[in-house]
Amino acid sequence: MELYEKTIHELHELIEKKEITGVELNKSVYERIAQVEEKIKAYVLTMDWEQVLQKAQAVDDMFARGGKIHPLGGIPMALKDNICTKGVRTTCSSKILENFVPPYDATVSQKLSESHTILVGKTNMDEFAMGSSTENSAFSITRNPWNLECVPGGSSGGAAASVAADEAVFALGSDTGGSIRQPAAFCGVVGLKPTYGLVSRYGLIAYASSLDQIGPITKDVTDCALVLSAIAGHDPKDSTSVNKPVPDYRNFLTGEIKGMKIGIPREYFGEGLDGGVREKVLAAIGDLEKLGAEVEEVSMPHTEYALPAYYLIASAEASSNLARYDGVRYGYRSKDASDIVTMFKKSRSEGFGSEVKRRIMLGTYALSTGYYDAYYLKALKVRTLVKGDFDRAFEKYDLLAAPTSPSVAFRTGEKRDDPLAMYMMDVCTIPINLAGIPAISLPCGFSEGLPVGLQLMGKAFGEGPLLKAAYAYEQSAGFHLAKPTLNGEV
Ligand code: GLN
Repeated sequence: MELYEKTIHELHELIEKKEITGVELNKSVYERIAQVEEKIKAYVLTMDWEQVLQKAQAVDDMFARGGKIHPLGGIPMALKDNICTKGVRTTCSSKILENFVPPYDATVSQKLSESHTILVGKTNMDEFAMGSSTENSAFSITRNPWNLECVPGGSSGGAAASVAADEAVFALGSDTGGSIRQPAAFCGVVGLKPTYGLVSRYGLIAYASSLDQIGPITKDVTDCALVLSAIAGHDPKDSTSVNKPVPDYRNFLTGEIKGMKIGIPREYFGEGLDGGVREKVLAAIGDLEKLGAEVEEVSMPHTEYALPAYYLIASAEASSNLARYDGVRYGYRSKDASDIVTMFKKSRSEGFGSEVKRRIMLGTYALSTGYYDAYYLKALKVRTLVKGDFDRAFEKYDLLAAPTSPSVAFRTGEKRDDPLAMYMMDVCTIPINLAGIPAISLPCGFSEGLPVGLQLMGKAFGEGPLLKAAYAYEQSAGFHLAKPTLNGEV
């Protein structure tokens, strides 16, 4: 097995035993990128090799001097390109931010630097995180490592593909309506959306601020626990970040889930769910039962209203958040405008892609006088009802289990011109963001040769029990060990 194929915890052990160095590991991942990136296109940019080498050498030197090495120390990782990195271009895969170099680090970037991880690149995404296939990037189309003709999911498609194709040991994505979990499911890796407020959003370029969360995309559940422990925690720079002590999430990985109560929300298995996905997810739930969990069907009656409510709330917030891109202070400015109003108009018209414009228009409409009550306010009320479904379910159950996505990865281009079909891809993930609770997607088998994701949802700040169940399942099922062949070309 090559170094680039290994998990964080395996690599950490090798580094600690002095069997490998950080330099060797980073070199291995760089060679892998050189070998496969042309096919996958996971990255918007990769870091300069000399710089990476220097950083890896510094970690090795620190360790050689007797310093203690953090569990993430020396590990090459990638960040979604909406996470600010000081001095490193951060584009949101948008023409409007093509040349934006942040003067500061996002809190998560800083925390990962303090853990001595090594940034190898910024990953491709749907522009401003709006989309479910990474086809809305202004720069390139990322391919699914399991089938290069299929999408990797989105909007953190580059992040998930980079981990699945072993171009990074782990990545961070962001999830507003499913953007960590759905691409993780499509690419056969693990993705976790934390509870709203657990991980700081400072330096995450805002899409819909009441829904956005940053989270890990990893090769297995143990790595997910390690990365979450490193990035979670209170941050005075994010007023929505919660002041609670962060446990070491590894302590929950016991493999023991006897007596755990798991609810199966009936509405997630309804019309539109692909037969192959249903079969694999139900089989996984059967495995959880064999491991000692008590499984029972539950009804969450407001589920069907979550999707329209989400698209109103997310677009409304986006229309406000994206008002700052006016060509004045930073970002793209149209060259051919003779007065200021034309400059605003042209900069925004030329700088944003069509999906982003669609959301800005939808959101502005939903917030406008006369429509506010009928759309935005109503959507907020629906959000409360959706959250109520979860509150009731969690009085009885420790966790809920469902598919992550109604289908496996679809073909590139298949849904590009059909926004409604694209929006339906989020039907299983969106309610979780509306409720603010945590959820994880992990591989549970294959359908049509493509990975299927099992989604587990937990109580607010219940990442521990969530990871516990995910780990127990993963260890018994073993699907995390499967590797894509990149269409047999590598
Ligand atoms: N696909 C959803 C959207 O387009 C979710 C995106 C996300 O989670 N960032 O809004």
